[in-house]
Amino acid sequence: MKKVLIVGAGYAGSVCARELADAGWSVELLDRRTHIAGNMYDELDEKGVLVHRYGPHISVMNSDRVFDFLSRFTEWLPYHHHVQAEINGVNVPLPINFNSIDLLFEPKEAIALKTELETLYGFGANVPILQLRESSSQKVRAFAEFVFEHVFLHYTVKMWGITPEEIDPAVTARIPIRLSYDDRHFLHKYQVMPKEGFTALFRRMLDHPAIVLHLETDSRDVLRFDSASKTVFYRGKEWDGLLIYTGALDELFGYCFGELPYRSLRFEFEHHAARTIQDATVLNWPDSRPATRRTEMTRLTQQRMTEPMTTTIVEYPGAYDRASSDYSEPYYPILAPKCQQLYLRYRTYFEAFPRCKLVGRLAEYRYYNMEATILAAFGLVDSI
Ligand code: FAD
Repeated sequence: MKKVLIVGAGYAGSVCARELADAGWSVELLDRRTHIAGNMYDELDEKGVLVHRYGPHISVMNSDRVFDFLSRFTEWLPYHHHVQAEINGVNVPLPINFNSIDLLFEPKEAIALKTELETLYGFGANVPILQLRESSSQKVRAFAEFVFEHVFLHYTVKMWGITPEEIDPAVTARIPIRLSYDDRHFLHKYQVMPKEGFTALFRRMLDHPAIVLHLETDSRDVLRFDSASKTVFYRGKEWDGLLIYTGALDELFGYCFGELPYRSLRFEFEHHAARTIQDATVLNWPDSRPATRRTEMTRLTQQRMTEPMTTTIVEYPGAYDRASSDYSEPYYPILAPKCQQLYLRYRTYFEAFPRCKLVGRLAEYRYYNMEATILAAFGLVDSI
């Protein structure tokens, strides 16, 4: 029987585990945490509210293959994500759309702006802010500057810990202004939440006789990479099966070429004896206060509490520091060219070991959402 050792029980490792087990492989899956599901992990807090320990997660997908695969392990609740931004004391829908314009500007000004946008780009279009900043219309350019300043600038500065001058204008190209009254945050084909939560989904995914799970097992304690012989040892013996690694490569090799930088987050969980405390699942603060956003969990999971009670998660970004207590989780890779070069050194080093594969947001040092992670895992399994 073919055998595979997989490090990491998040989506990357767990999808590979299940797909290979279904294909007849024997699978050993390690994770150093006390639980499965990686950063998708959810649990009931002391008030009985289902919370996401590593930050709020929403399932949005366009891929039928991803949706069909996950549907084997969960029923879904239909869910449309709504995000608001507090701008000049008013909470308006994000992405900025015609409803936001109506809330932000005086009626006459709003009508004139919407008419101009519709004439130039057509009703229903999603126009990147960079395109609006280059518009022939002075009114549209002024509006684009307003959105850049009030929605994008301060949020980006605190999220990434950079100065306004360091913002790459190309990034603004991706922020759309929606020329309609559609308040949904995402436009994906599938917008759903797992009925019993993500951890339950993962539990069913990993419930297979060929998958042996070892929690609280750090690969650094059981795996050794001998660079002279290009051999991997598992629990002291040469590992002659396949290895799939989904953790960080700099850590795996003892930071021998230097540390890969990340942004991290500190989460503050707050209980509220109320059915709800805000009008959308997420409220963004695109201003100079230190927190970026607040998510209301019972809105996200659609959990019905018997008593008025909800839990919110407030996010404070900071630089990743593995020695700190607050910012020791590497969440967002820094995509600057010099970081990518350092990553490639590690990747080349890793790939010199035979039968060793990597996949996932840490191992690939990429900002992957859930769907992209699962597609990358499918790609790896297909190639195997
Ligand atoms: P992870 O989920 O991080 O899993 C990696 C696992 O490997 C972890 O369990 C870790 O303990 C384990 N591991 C690492 N090193 C070792 C080792 N040496 N030994 C043993 N185990 C090890 N995506 C969405 O689609 N929708 C969202 O709404 C969304 N929201 C997000 C919000 C935040 C705040 C963040 C940071 C990300 C969000 N994402 C979202 C992205 C999503 O979290 C990732 O795409 C997904 O979790 C990646 O899965 P993964 O398996 O690659 O990594």
